[in-house]
Amino acid sequence: MNEIKATDPQLLLDRIEDIPALSPVVSRVLGLLDEDDSTARQIADLIQNDTALSSRILKAVNSAYYGFTSRVTTVSQAVVLLGLDTIKSIVLSTNVIEMMVDNTGTIEDLHRLWERSLFAAVAGRKMARMIKHETPEEVFMACLMMDVGMLVQLRIHGADYEGILADDVRHGEDIVVSETSRLEFSHEEMGEAILRRWELPEFLVRPIVHHHDLRGIESEDPAIQRISRLVHMARLAGRIFFSPGVGVALRDFRNESRQQFRMSPDEVDEFFRGIKEEVLEVAAQYGFSNMSLPSYTELLDEANQELEDLNATYERMNRELKAAKQKAEELALKLREANEILQRMANHDTLTGLYNRRYFDDFIEREFERSRRYRRTISLIILDIDHFKSVNDNYGHQQGDTILSETGELLRQLTRTSDMAARYGGEEMVIILPETTLYAARIAAEKIRRAIESYEYSYRPKEPMHITVSMGIASLAEDSEISSPKELIAKADACLYRAKEEGRNRICF
Ligand code: GH3
Ligand code: MG
Ligand code: MG
Repeated sequence: MNEIKATDPQLLLDRIEDIPALSPVVSRVLGLLDEDDSTARQIADLIQNDTALSSRILKAVNSAYYGFTSRVTTVSQAVVLLGLDTIKSIVLSTNVIEMMVDNTGTIEDLHRLWERSLFAAVAGRKMARMIKHETPEEVFMACLMMDVGMLVQLRIHGADYEGILADDVRHGEDIVVSETSRLEFSHEEMGEAILRRWELPEFLVRPIVHHHDLRGIESEDPAIQRISRLVHMARLAGRIFFSPGVGVALRDFRNESRQQFRMSPDEVDEFFRGIKEEVLEVAAQYGFSNMSLPSYTELLDEANQELEDLNATYERMNRELKAAKQKAEELALKLREANEILQRMANHDTLTGLYNRRYFDDFIEREFERSRRYRRTISLIILDIDHFKSVNDNYGHQQGDTILSETGELLRQLTRTSDMAARYGGEEMVIILPETTLYAARIAAEKIRRAIESYEYSYRPKEPMHITVSMGIASLAEDSEISSPKELIAKADACLYRAKEEGRNRICF
């Protein structure tokens, strides 16, 4: 497939033999039609040389579509009655259809391609009339030609292209995507190239370039822009009747027709109603009386069902997504909570609820260092429960635990948030008071001492139980020989020892 490489589609066309060509009669008719001074007589004479073409034109002129009352029997009459635009359209269309149909013997999908092209031509012309575009026959031709590039692709790539063609006409896949990923050029580019070879006018050439994607259309001449939009719509109409996924195809058509031509959904329905009959009639004009098409009503039912299913799927996916998101959020919350618990467990003593020794050690290091660097004051209180051993001995270890736990709770309540109370070990507790002088620490300690002394610890009902504590206090600011946390603790500890010595339930500093 890749032996022919080219950067310009025209160069590629130069290198292959047997590229699709217009019949000589058609070329000459088109040439004559383009000359300003050619007469209907001359054109009719030329057409009469080609019996197949003549009969096609007579068939067309006598079809119900044009609705002439009396039977037309001569080509020259037909030319006059139909007008040059229509004649041009029939001549060219006949030739293009022949090219497509020639191949049907070997490639089944070509048959579908030409049926779809014919359908698009009729749809494009119908829409052109609907929006009052002045040259509906031009639109008919442009639509019929939009996929002519595929014929060229088939000639160039042979069997390799048959798969791509099948993906498009049978499965409705995006052919431009498969082409650009596998071939040098898309059928849009090849279509443009071949139409230039045939020396066809720009209004036929340019819409081919845009028929899958209207972006960039603004740089075109307004008339070409309009035809391009119509061709694009005709392609989308073809998808509804010829591709699977009718629901999505119809939805796309409705969106696009509203955007391009402000068509309402009712106008869309109106547009498609009766299109089947019109297409079959035109097919018959071109000698194909056995074409079959689904009716729009059938397709509408199918589309609604499909869109309903699609909506249901979408809603289900949305629900599932929401549920998954909620679950993820719940998990994240649980994880956060678990982390908080772990963090708390790592820093706290379970019995008293106070910070633990490890946290205290870190905290005092940091705070001591900070206070020393900024010449701030910091105080430390060491607190020890008096005669705790005998509490345990007289009331049991469990009661001892209760007293420890309630003392912890009291300390938490009695200290400021900037203070830090920790269990130092056994029934010894410490309180760090940053930014606090010895004087202020003494007041705080006294408050604690009194609160504990008067506090009624839980014991068996109606047996109030009182506990006392002794405390030692050391401060940094007032005692400059202290140079480490260790020394600060030792100093407070020594004061505590003194408090015990001096009779307990007191504060020494
Ligand atoms: P002092 O007034 O001199 O401080 O006397 P004390 O009895 O309080 O001192 P000592 O250090 O001799 O005894 C402390 C007691 O505290 C001994 C130990 O069994 C008890 N203890 C330490 N930790 C715990 C604990 O977690 N729970 C209980 N119930 N008792 C504890
Ligand atoms: Mg004690
Ligand atoms: Mg002790």
